[in-house]
Amino acid sequence: MENVIIVRYCEIHLKGNNRGFFERVFAENMEKALKGIKHVIRKQSGRYAVEEFAVSETDEIMRRLQKVFGVHTLSVALKVKTDLDEIFEAVKTFNPQVGSFKVETHRADKKFPLNSMQINAEIGGRLLAYNRKLSVDVHNPQTVIGIDLRENGTSLVFGNLINGVGGMPVGTAGKGMLLISGGIDSPVAGYMMAKRGMKIECVHFHSYPYTNMQAREKVEELAAVLGEYSCGTTLNVVKVTHIQEEIHKKCNGDYVVTLLRRFMMRIAERLAKKCGAQCLITGESLGQVASQTIEGMTSSGSVIESLPILRPLCGFDKNEIIERSRNMGAFDISIRPYEDCCTVFLPKHPVIHPKISDVLAEEAKLDVEGLINEALSTLEIVKI
Ligand code: ATP
Ligand code: MG
Repeated sequence: MENVIIVRYCEIHLKGNNRGFFERVFAENMEKALKGIKHVIRKQSGRYAVEEFAVSETDEIMRRLQKVFGVHTLSVALKVKTDLDEIFEAVKTFNPQVGSFKVETHRADKKFPLNSMQINAEIGGRLLAYNRKLSVDVHNPQTVIGIDLRENGTSLVFGNLINGVGGMPVGTAGKGMLLISGGIDSPVAGYMMAKRGMKIECVHFHSYPYTNMQAREKVEELAAVLGEYSCGTTLNVVKVTHIQEEIHKKCNGDYVVTLLRRFMMRIAERLAKKCGAQCLITGESLGQVASQTIEGMTSSGSVIESLPILRPLCGFDKNEIIERSRNMGAFDISIRPYEDCCTVFLPKHPVIHPKISDVLAEEAKLDVEGLINEALSTLEIVKI
């Protein structure tokens, strides 16, 4: 008996002529996720099998594969010779102790003397005799025991399927530049675009010494959590302290956040161009805070000339975002209480529905190009 992990993938099936490309990227991403663990990944028809690993690594392999986009379901399986006695020995190890079960056989090996129904009945009967606390329920069983008779004389036996994260393999849908703060929303926004196959680069703006080193470390940790799903990422860190001081000194205080956002967008666009990212991604959600009104988004978006801005959380409630943040493992880091640059110099009455003409009048008081270049000269790049 040999331990195997079966990996079933989802939407990749739909991709017609591109299927080879999607499968190749998917397999590469699994290899990256399992780096450092001895294993072999083999392609089978319509799925993959991870083989030749140490049994003690099973949980770790499962944990890592559960973060690979494109994985629909996973099963820990036993590979045995196609022989009823050997199959039953393997089934016994998945014995659910109590409750209902059914056996579901898939027979690729058409030469085997029993058909799938007969194998279900034979193995199900043996299991009932072996454990009298079990019952058969073919409609709504608590445990499904799968048996795959393969064409090469081996069979795979497995228990209930475990859900993967779904989505598309990262690297099949271009690259995006995520504006990442230390908050709850932006890491989730990055996760959602990675889930659709996008590679993610990150940019974070800080205003040291108004924001501290812990705030910066927090963002690096969040980028690392995101990176577990996005096959790694790069964090661009830019200091915007002087921009904020200039805005504070020269402009109407109510426009501080609005103006800062426009600088962030412009800088993010330039960094995106440099690394080949094709869009910007933010964690904005309509109406969540004063700066996230439609007028606020129009004002910050209007400085971007040539890239789309994706706001995958735009239609989500905060509690929906929090649930996703928890599921991806970012929440506990996001809620650490360090200041973000947006909360420095925060006005009492920020403009909620900024008029573009007013914004432009305020911005005209600043050397926009000079400030952008100065900020870009502080760029640090951290590989995550
Ligand atoms: P988050 O939880 O992502 O911080 P938020 O609800 O706090 O979002 P805002 O502070 O208004 O909302 O920020 C809106 C979006 O602007 C963020 O989701 C993020 O994409 C971007 N952003 C805000 N602050 C920064 C920052 N310091 N560096 C990079 N991007 C930022
Ligand atoms: Mg924030």
